[in-house]
Parts: sequence; C-alpha cells; structure tokens
Amino acid sequence: MELKYYKIIVESSPNMIWKSGIDGNCNYFNNTWLEFTGRTIEQELGDGWAEGVHKDDLKNCLKVYLDSFHNRQPFEMEYRLLRADGEYRWINDRGVPFFEEGEFSGYIGSCIDVNEKVEGRHLKFKAQRDGLTEITNREYFEKMFLQEFKKAKKMKSPLSIIMIDIDNFKSVNDTYGHLAGDKVLIALAKTIQKEIRNIDLFGRYGGEEFIIALPEIEGSSAKSIAERLRKKIEKTKISYKKQALRVTASFGAAQLSDEKNPKELLDKSDQAMYLSKGNGKNRVTLFE
Ligand code: GH3
Ligand code: MG
Ligand code: MG
Repeated sequence: MELKYYKIIVESSPNMIWKSGIDGNCNYFNNTWLEFTGRTIEQELGDGWAEGVHKDDLKNCLKVYLDSFHNRQPFEMEYRLLRADGEYRWINDRGVPFFEEGEFSGYIGSCIDVNEKVEGRHLKFKAQRDGLTEITNREYFEKMFLQEFKKAKKMKSPLSIIMIDIDNFKSVNDTYGHLAGDKVLIALAKTIQKEIRNIDLFGRYGGEEFIIALPEIEGSSAKSIAERLRKKIEKTKISYKKQALRVTASFGAAQLSDEKNPKELLDKSDQAMYLSKGNGKNRVTLFE
C-alpha cells in the first residue's frame, strides 16, 4: 500500500490517536484527536494535552502513563477529557510501547469516547449503594443474598447472618443532633467493613441497622465474629465537634438450616437481635 494511504488511515481513524517519544513527551496527535479537543497541534504537543484532562483524573492519568512508560508496559485507563464544546467526556485510552529496529521509541495510544458506558456504570453503582454510608443498600443486599442463599442450599454449605442494631441511637440524635448521628453511622459502617471478608455481603438494612451475610460460616463462628464486632464498636470513638462519641450495638446471629427462603433466615437473626435488646443490649444472641 502506498504510504499516503497509511497517513489517511491514521488521520481519519474514528479513534483518537497520539504518539510520544522516548522522553515521554507527546509528539503527534491525529486529526480526530484535534477535532475532539478543538485545540491546535501546538497546544497539545509535549504535555499540553494534560491541560484538557479533568483535574480529578489528572494525577491518576499521569501516574498510569509514567509508570507504564517506565516499565515499557501497555496500559489502559479511563479519564475525563475536555471536548471542544466544553463538556468533559470519559475517554478510554490504550497505549503500547513501540520499537524501531528493536529499539524502544516511545508510545502509541488510541482513545475512544466511552462516556455513556462509564456514566451507566456509575449510575448502576450508585443505585446499589446507600447514599449516606456508601455501603450496599437493602434492596441490593437482598438481591445478592438471594443468590448466596440459593448457592448455599444447593451446595449444602454453611451460611450465616448477623443483624446489627445500634443501641439507643435516638438519644445520639436527640443529644448531639442528626448530623452527629449521621457521622456515627458512617463511622460504624467503616469499622464493620474493615472487620469482615471480601466475600461477606454487608448492607445498611434500616435506619440504624446493618446486616452481614457470611458464606461458609457456621452459626457458632458467626457468633464469635459478632462478638468481635461488638467489642470493636464499643471501643470505637467517633469524633464530632471536639467530642468523642461512643455507641454500642445489639447483635442477632442465625445460621442456615431448613429455611425455605431468605426471609425465614433473616427473621431468625432479627428475633435473636431482639433477644439481645431484651436482655440488656450490647450483646450477641445466636438463634437456637
Ligand atoms: P434501641 O436501643 O431499642 O434500638 O433504640 P434506638 O433509639 O436505637 O431505636 P429507635 O428505633 O427508637 O430509633 C432509631 C433512631 O434512628 C430513630 C431515627 O431518627 C434514627 N435514624 C434512622 N436513620 C437515621 C439516619 O440516617 N441518620 C440519623 N442521624 N438518624 C437516623
Ligand atoms: Mg432499629
Ligand atoms: Mg436501635
């Protein structure tokens, strides 16, 4: 193929294409890139292109690029880039090192606009989260728990639930205000998250109620785990306006036996939790 056609292919590619040299500085942008950013080649050359990267993404963007460059590794990343019309768009950028006669010569990159895809992903993620604590919300927890329940039934493997209800939480709000209460919820969600495994499902079940589903865990172990969490919560100091707030929580644990649906198991942990409340709060009860 004649050389001029290669040029046409690169310049008119639907992908935005860039190239950098061995010094890491960019020395080429195709027409598609320049049309997207609405800037001149002179503005983009060197590290000029970085001016168009969203300030919240720039640090990671440069890190991925420079780390990969240093190790001569291909990379793929997403960041927001300012489009000519003033809108930031999520871009997928893939870069590979290239070699001339065996010598490393720099990087070639190819980008596409993946804005709709990324925003869709963010919306989905948000819909599964509780707005305050950012942990799984009840609806999504129940969806995930149904899967775990079915799996455990089928494999005849253990599965436990721990229900957690903060003690006298109303009085936290009444004494320190609703914002203090919010801060306590956020802090406790973090505390609990740190104590459990990645495979555990952890959600906000109600206003001041949390729930954990523990695959492969028997009731007796769930009880010990709840006891560990109880102690951890009891010791957690939450700073609010120069004050150190502390709360306790009541726990109910239950293990899968002959329940026909997830609700039956959840109800058992709930009943156990109410026994903890009735017996003086700040304690763990295993449903027997
Ligand atoms: P108990 O020990 O029996 O559980 O008492 P409690 O006060 O914790 O329980 P109660 O059900 O009487 O009150 C729960 C309180 O939780 C009332 C409600 O205002 C508060 N609450 C629920 N959701 C939130 C929230 O998102 N933020 C704050 N700050 N408070 C909340
Ligand atoms: Mg409650
Ligand atoms: Mg409560």
